[in-house]
Parts: sequence; C-alpha cells; structure tokens
Amino acid sequence: MNTVEAPPAPLAQSPLTDQLKDPELLRAGGFIDGQWECPDAGPLLHVADPATGERLTSLAATSGPGVRKAVQAASRAQPAWAALPAKERATRLMAWHAQILAHVDDLALLMTREQGKPLAEARGEVLFGASFVAWYAEEAKRIHGEVLQTYSADRRVLTLRQPVGVVVAITPWNFPSAMITRKCAPALAAGCSIVLKPSEETPLSAIALCVLAQRAGIPDGVINLVLCTRDNVADTGRALLADSRVRKLSFTGSTSTGKQLMRLAADNVLKVSLELGGNAPLIVFEDADLDRAADGALASKFRNMGQTCTCANRILVQRTVYDAFAAKLIERVRSLQVGPGLQPDVTQGPLINSKAVDKVSEHVADALAKGARAVVGGAPDERGGLFFQPTVLLDVKPHMRICHEETFGPVAPLLAFDTEEEALALANDSSYGLAGYFYTRDLARALRMAERLELGAVGINEAVISSEAVPIGGVKQSGIGREGAHHGIDEFLETKQITIGAL
Ligand code: ADP
Repeated sequence: MNTVEAPPAPLAQSPLTDQLKDPELLRAGGFIDGQWECPDAGPLLHVADPATGERLTSLAATSGPGVRKAVQAASRAQPAWAALPAKERATRLMAWHAQILAHVDDLALLMTREQGKPLAEARGEVLFGASFVAWYAEEAKRIHGEVLQTYSADRRVLTLRQPVGVVVAITPWNFPSAMITRKCAPALAAGCSIVLKPSEETPLSAIALCVLAQRAGIPDGVINLVLCTRDNVADTGRALLADSRVRKLSFTGSTSTGKQLMRLAADNVLKVSLELGGNAPLIVFEDADLDRAADGALASKFRNMGQTCTCANRILVQRTVYDAFAAKLIERVRSLQVGPGLQPDVTQGPLINSKAVDKVSEHVADALAKGARAVVGGAPDERGGLFFQPTVLLDVKPHMRICHEETFGPVAPLLAFDTEEEALALANDSSYGLAGYFYTRDLARALRMAERLELGAVGINEAVISSEAVPIGGVKQSGIGREGAHHGIDEFLETKQITIGAL
C-alpha cells in the first residue's frame, strides 16, 4: 500500500490555514503522479470567497507539460490498479470514505468558503459525496462477466467487463465535492485511472479530496489533479482530449461546454458521459397536497441558491389552485435567510460570481418587462456583492427567457395551466430533459405523466431525488449516460466478447 505521503506543501498566507483542524488539506497546486505541485513562475489560480470577496489563496495552475505528465502518470498506473483484486480496490475506496468522514468539518468549511453554500448544506454535500465512495466500493466487487448460451456446439462464448482505461473527469463548481466522487468512485472501482480537472471556482475541495485519497492508499498516478485558470481551461481541455492515451470523458457542466467537449472527444472516439444543463418543470395539479408541493418547490428551487441542474426552473400550477399554491410558496420563501454561509441560520448564500448575478438579473428583468410580477424579491440583495434576493415571479408566460434557459439562481417563476395535456406540452417544450417533478393524488395521472415526460428523472410527490442509489442523467440536450446506482459503473466499463472454438 502506498501510505507514504509526499512532503507537505502547505499554502502560504491563506486565512484558511488557521481555521482548519487539518491544514495539510490545503496544498498549493495540482497533484501529479503522487506529487503536489507548487507555484513557480507560471500563472496563478486565485480563489476567492464569494460571500466576502476575500482572497483565500493563489494556486499553481498546471502547465502544458504538467497536463501531459498527468495523463502519462494515469496511463502508467492504470494497468496495475486494474490488476488488483476488486476486493483490494474496494478496501482502498472504503479507506477513502473513512478519511472523508473523518474530515467532514474541514471539507464543509472549505466548500462554504470557496463556493458560498450554507455550512449545513456543505456538510450534507460532503456526506452525500462520501456515499458514492462507499457505494462504488461495494459495486467494485460485483462487476461480473457472463457465460452466454453458445450458438454452435463446438464453441463457447464468455464476456468480460473491463475498465475503459484513463478517464478525464471535468467537474463543475455547484457541487464541488459530490460531482468529483460521483465520477471518481465508480471509475476507481472499475479499475480506471483519472485525470481530474475541477472548476476553477472551487479547486480547494478537489485538492482536499486528493490529499485524502492519497492517505487512503490510492497509488501514485491513479488519481491526478490538474488546475486551470479561466484563461487556460480551453487549452487544457483540448490537450487532455487530444491525448490518445485518454479513453473516456466524464463531464458535468453547461450544455454549451459539453457540446464543445463532445466535439473534441470525437477525434479519438472517446467513450463519453455528459451531465449537462436542465430546465426542470415542477407541476402542481389541483388534486395535489399543496403544502407538500410548496415544501418540495422550496427545497428544489432554493437549495444551493438555485444553482443546481435538477432544480425546478418552471413551476406550472393548475389555474384552480394557482393562488392558493402561490400563497403557500410565498410564505415559505419569505422565511429564507440570506447571508454568508458560515453564519448560523443562513439558508441562502451568495451566487458563485458576478456573471451568475447578471444572468439571474437579466432573466428577472426580461420576465418583468413581458408582464410578470415579482411578489417576493426580484433584485440583487441590499447586502450587495453576489447576494440575490429569493424571488417569486407570478404571471409568468412560456415566451419569457426564464422558461427556456437555465436561470441557475433563486427565482421561482409560476405559470398557470388548465389541463393535463397543456401541462405536459409546456413541460416537454424544452431542449433540456434532465429532471422534473409533479404533485398529484391521482394514480392513473401519475403513471401517464411519468411515462410521457421527456426527462431522465421524475419525482412524483417528491422534489429531492438525489442519492447514490439512483441513476441520474439526461435525455435530449441534458446529456448522455447515467451516474449513481449500478448504472454509474457501466460508464467506466467495456464489454469484451471471448469466443472459444475447436471444442
Ligand atoms: P459554468 O459556466 O457554470 O462554469 P462550464 O460548463 O463552463 O459551466 O464549466 C464546467 C466545467 O467545465 C468546469 O470545470 C470548467 O472549468 C470546465 N470547462 C469550461 N470550458 C472548458 C473547456 N473549453 N475545456 C475544458 N473544460 C472546460
């Protein structure tokens, strides 16, 4: 087991050093072939707290040669990792899981400081992220081939399930921990090695997870971490996907970036998994439990300040219960507390950056200009900075931008509909197809709707549907492939047929 740590390279002058129980979770750069990079003459990646604007640290961005070295290391380390008995890979994944649980307070603090979400939510995400590691440690032991019925008396046919090889994992900032473990745990369980490129907004969670993976005995080169500035992300993406040693791209992020990466991945015919944008409908029928629906809408829409690809982006309410439902939702939204995520009782932190605030502001302005009414919020918060008021918009119509583009912010737009057919047509009128939710007590309607919604995931009387135990992924322009459950590991495996003749 590789239990010897690389010499520590703690960050200089980070205000976080004094706040962490284990300051060694902070490193100054990427992680390549078991070595931590340090800043040199190259470009720096500055990390700031979105709640205060305070600079948290400056990290070494990985150079072009560093990126190639990371792929080289992953390529060299992968066969030996794959050759370990699955039980041994599982043991190391469980050790990683234990390390994550032992450092949950520090991991949550790092996440809140770099991403903004309230501390309790950050803690919840770390545990959610850890659940993928435990789940795929178990799945590692259940990768089975088959003996097929033969088609000829003198032949036998077997199948093997083998790791695809070197994986490039590109992850977003909205779930800085769970989107990493949701990819890395099944990849490692399958016997793949990884080059991880986290979002430039949230590299600290990624660094800490790699420190803990190293401590858990994941061998050198099996997980590598490359860091980018906003300026060199496109070059890094191109370099990673142009390297013929890479066999798989697993990406979570925007649809536009996903399309670009898919084009690049085509050159080497990579296996791809893409979890892209969404524009989730949440439909409230007149026979719904309106309190439950309002609770669900609140949880789905305002978790992570609405910066979630599965969050309700369009709330469709049957006209006969529109006012009653709106009143219940408004009451709940008024109880939300905006502020820095470290402050107790805060439920709504800042948005990730000024681009995000601009987009949310534009969506609200567009809706108001076209006849919607903001009955709660509707503007950046008086605190200034990156805070936006939790907002409820009434009288929203399908031609408004908010109904077609992902808002990624704390804005709940309510549209009215009259019939089930109309609700279904409105819900499916989207180029996205990730998740959606509806509330009804009518069993026949529930089945009709679940079957006809063009989505990868449907919640019936339930708006929080994330778990390591369920497959998540999109249809239409929301993506390709599934993460979670036993489906998630298939994305990192190939099926090989073996025919034995002359029997
Ligand atoms: P967002 O705009 O919300 O940050 P993105 O899809 O741009 O969403 O980002 C998701 C991830 O994709 C991040 O890790 C980001 O750095 C990365 N990314 C963005 N553009 C590229 C690119 N051209 N090549 C490789 N990775 C990219």
